[in-house]
Amino acid sequence: MKIAVFPGSFDPITLGHHDIVSRALPLFDKIIVAVGKNANKNYMFPLEQRLEWISATFEGEPKIEVDAYSGLTVNYCREKGAHFILRGLRNPGDFEFEKAVAQTNRKLSHELETVFLLTASGLSSISSSIVRDVIRHGGDYSQFVPKAVRIKS
Ligand code: ADP
Repeated sequence: MKIAVFPGSFDPITLGHHDIVSRALPLFDKIIVAVGKNANKNYMFPLEQRLEWISATFEGEPKIEVDAYSGLTVNYCREKGAHFILRGLRNPGDFEFEKAVAQTNRKLSHELETVFLLTASGLSSISSSIVRDVIRHGGDYSQFVPKAVRIKS
């Protein structure tokens, strides 16, 4: 069984994340969208809210599981029997960062391969941090996020 973990903060999930997961579905038997809990990060939305939005976005898709984890991603993958990490690439900045993380992860676990999908044209400018700025300042965030993401004001 080919299992991939798609790790991230998903603060909040965007159309960019949605696109990567949708396009990766034919490649794997199961994709675990895994929200990493990082004590040093200040999140805009609570973990439960982020998980709820992800679950609602992929509702009815049997190959997708939604979970939260803390600690090293490689340890979480081992626990889940996942041999693949899924990540998206938007720009050279992503590439440099992701290269270092993927090479480190391979040193930590030789049986783990990171699979990258290129962002779809039109979605490469979407990032959770920019979406958070739009939300903070009252802009129309709905064009950047799946329908399930609705912020109560
Ligand atoms: P992290 O905090 O680990 O960067 P994110 O939630 O920001 O988590 O992103 C998770 C993954 O989704 C990363 O691999 C990131 O590159 C990818 N991603 C985010 N936005 C996009 C996008 N617009 N197009 C393609 N991939 C994206």
